[in-house]
Amino acid sequence: MEAGLAQAPGSDVPGVSGVEHAFEYVEGWGMAVGAHGRVLRPRNLEQLRACFALARREGTTLGLRGGGNSYGDASVNDVGHALDCSRMDRILGFDARTGIATLEAGVTIEKLWKHILPLGFWPRVVSGTMFPTAAGAAAMNIHGKNNFAVGTFGDAILEFDLLLASGELRRCSRSEHADLFHAAIGGLGMLGVFTRIVLQTKRVHSGELSVRAISTRNLREMMEYMDAHRGDADYLVGWVDCFAAGEASGRGLIHHANYLHEGEDSDPARTLSVAHQELPANILGVFPKGEVWRILSLFNNDLGMRLVNLAKYHAGRLEAHHEPHRQSHAGFAFLLDYVPNWKWAYGRERGRRGLIQYQSFVPKERAHELFTQLLERCRRARLVPYLGVFKRHRPDPFWLTHAVDGWSFAMDFKVTPQNRERLWRHCAELTELVLAAGGRFYFAKDLVLNAKDPARFYPADKLERFLALKRELDPEGLFATNLWRRAFSPDAR
Ligand SMILES: Cc1cc2nc3c(=O)[nH]c(=O)nc-3n(C[C@H](O)[C@H](O)[C@H](O)COP(=O)(O)OP(=O)(O)OC[C@H]3O[C@@H](n4cnc5c(N)ncnc54)[C@H](O)[C@@H]3O)c2cc1C
Repeated sequence: MEAGLAQAPGSDVPGVSGVEHAFEYVEGWGMAVGAHGRVLRPRNLEQLRACFALARREGTTLGLRGGGNSYGDASVNDVGHALDCSRMDRILGFDARTGIATLEAGVTIEKLWKHILPLGFWPRVVSGTMFPTAAGAAAMNIHGKNNFAVGTFGDAILEFDLLLASGELRRCSRSEHADLFHAAIGGLGMLGVFTRIVLQTKRVHSGELSVRAISTRNLREMMEYMDAHRGDADYLVGWVDCFAAGEASGRGLIHHANYLHEGEDSDPARTLSVAHQELPANILGVFPKGEVWRILSLFNNDLGMRLVNLAKYHAGRLEAHHEPHRQSHAGFAFLLDYVPNWKWAYGRERGRRGLIQYQSFVPKERAHELFTQLLERCRRARLVPYLGVFKRHRPDPFWLTHAVDGWSFAMDFKVTPQNRERLWRHCAELTELVLAAGGRFYFAKDLVLNAKDPARFYPADKLERFLALKRELDPEGLFATNLWRRAFSPDAR
């Protein structure tokens, strides 16, 4: 089949009645990896089981996929089929007394917040984009800008149903099949298919947050502020200018946000409405949002991004002089969704251009020294991240968790055919430093780790138990992805 052309979607896979399917190019969100293949889109349990049977008959594997928002190859399966769960997207129930939501696998964070906010609730944990599905968020155990305060997405899950490779549907919670509960959350879609997720959401009294900006002159200042406010902030996130060197290394801007208490918002019915959350159609009142990536692409080079970062830093210094302001939940949480397809500014050449995000998680005792070292290495190698984001984390009980009692630093690197090999070597060098500092990685973002690396940062007992569970529940290796073969099981089908 010719690269780039998608075959017209069919309504039936031969032998699997009713399952929607298509031949498509399936890529990681960062566009630096992808492959053509068959995508199956079941709508219910019966169709899911039929897809399992089809893969068995064909002797192939299924790579589970939600919204495709993982930066790397976590939901790419270039030697098997993609099993796209996004059509299973019904909100099965929401209890407006308790804030408990019951969701099918493919319900997106966007669909969830739009349903519950007018009722006075917000998801406890959201990512920087609203497009992930509940199942994708559970399989990666995503974190938000409040990880230090409330933990991960998994911490908010009360119960889920997992369809095992055998066809058995298993209900798991902290008290029922607790091992599987703690393994499948963060389990990279390798133990079964989430079909139903029960989630605790948070009561809110306004559709707005109170947000304050703090300009910081270096990484030390950023860490000191965030540590001092861990007890009183609901959200903390730091943006870092990765081009700044010397005394200014790690300088940036913190956003510190808090929920409003009951009575602080004079018109909650208005601010809790979905319309109030919508992001404006134009940026600066002029540029149509859909076209802004074209302007960004003019700056998507080292000089341009140095200037953009410099301008953002100085704009942040001005912003920091203002009083705290009100911002909608969606505006604060999903800033990156503000510019549709901003990633296209990195170039659109399937599998050859794009971006990778390199996010490492480091215990608090070593984080300052290590991240200062990483920034310096990047500048010396002339591979400077165009975006740097800094967050505070706390540990959680999930077996393959990335979270530590410490900090994470996410660095976005541009990928081109010319720099690709050098960039991967550079990241391998950074990885040695991170591992030596006791750090971990997060596979929703990764495209560079190797097969031996997970064993170097996950606790041995947890990783061994996970692999044993995989052998027990999926002995023939029905579920596999590029990520699985690259970083965990090079011999997998
Ligand atoms: C702009 C942007 C900002 C982001 N910000 C953050 C952030 O702040 N914090 C954060 O933690 N992450 C962040 N992410 C990453 C994103 O939240 C995760 O990659 C998330 O897992 C994506 O969910 P998805 O539905 O798109 O799943 P996919 O990316 O399609 O898949 C993710 C994983 O879920 C598995 N999976 C999918 N469906 C199922 C199922 N039904 N059952 C079992 N497994 C399944 C897949 O096999 C894969 O391993 C960001 C991503 C982007 C693009």
